Amino acid sequence: MTSRGVVFADPDAAPAVEEIALDPPGPNEVQVRIEACGVCHSDLHVVETRGWGLPFPILLGHEGAGVVEEVGEGVTSVAPGDRVVIAWRAPCGESCPACRRGDPRRCSNNLRARRRVHRASDGALLAPVLRCGCYADRAIVHAACAVRVPAELPVEQACLLACGFSTGAGAALWATPVRPGSTVAVIGCGGVGLAVVQGARLAGAERIVAVDVLPQKLASALELGATDPVDASAGDAVAQVRELTGGAGVEFAFSAIGAPSGLVDAVRMCAYAGTATLVGIPPPGRTLDLDLERDLFGPKVAIAVTHGGDTIPQEDFPFLAREALAGRVDLARFVTVEISLDEVPRALEELNAQTGIRTVVRL
Ligand SMILES: [Zn+2]
Ligand SMILES: [Zn+2]
Repeated sequence: MTSRGVVFADPDAAPAVEEIALDPPGPNEVQVRIEACGVCHSDLHVVETRGWGLPFPILLGHEGAGVVEEVGEGVTSVAPGDRVVIAWRAPCGESCPACRRGDPRRCSNNLRARRRVHRASDGALLAPVLRCGCYADRAIVHAACAVRVPAELPVEQACLLACGFSTGAGAALWATPVRPGSTVAVIGCGGVGLAVVQGARLAGAERIVAVDVLPQKLASALELGATDPVDASAGDAVAQVRELTGGAGVEFAFSAIGAPSGLVDAVRMCAYAGTATLVGIPPPGRTLDLDLERDLFGPKVAIAVTHGGDTIPQEDFPFLAREALAGRVDLARFVTVEISLDEVPRALEELNAQTGIRTVVRL
């Protein structure tokens, strides 16, 4: 079957829309007709790092949702016609030490489909980003990665559960669970940071301090549940957060910006025995500048890292979808621009300068 997809052909090529060809899904695999896919920084990271370690040619896109078209042998979890969100991390369930001890949120052995998508031009097998390849009309994924969600949730919102929203909300709900009544700081109020705000609110945080340099991002954070804005362009953000909290600092600080200064500030904003969590991929080759005694040992601050919000997609995506339908999280507010597949290469180029929250490709 032929389709179209955004291919990153070699390290020196710009991503471009091409004809692609799919083999039928194999055992435990599912073919999904993609209807929407968010434009996430990780795809730009693949371009900027000249492939992120993947073999070329690469099929981009990993924040997809759509409808099941065909299932391979042995698949009973979904059927043709089901609306699914495509998870890029699906815990193996049995073969890694984390899953064996009953802790699938720390699984390092994600399930994957065989590679079944080719360039139509020369037949070369494509490497799909994060086992997905969703900037395309169709994708073939492992059945565990096709997560059924209610069809009532608009698909351009549902796709955000595949990466950005779950990464941010999951950071506060599951990776570093925020306690009810606690005080939280979120550094960087782009799409992922705003999702941290929503997750912290859902977890019952009493105070959520939003930190950014742009007034419109702080305004969005306040609309989505933050209680206090801190304009980092107006002076030392750490000092401002400490002042807001009567000198104590926050119990949970999240850095949702790539720059190392975000995590350094998060550590320094923490109260005694607080946790600073790194959310999202930093650029390669950066290091932290922390005073081991003053910043870490003395205040007993822990540093945590989340991958995709440490979700268990089959449980957490339907949970977040239900919360969205019930009005307790505001996914609609995150979709600020909709584009076509042909506009993806330009959207990736302009991603670092984007002013909206999330751009979503509609197919
Ligand atoms: Zn596992
Ligand atoms: Zn992503």
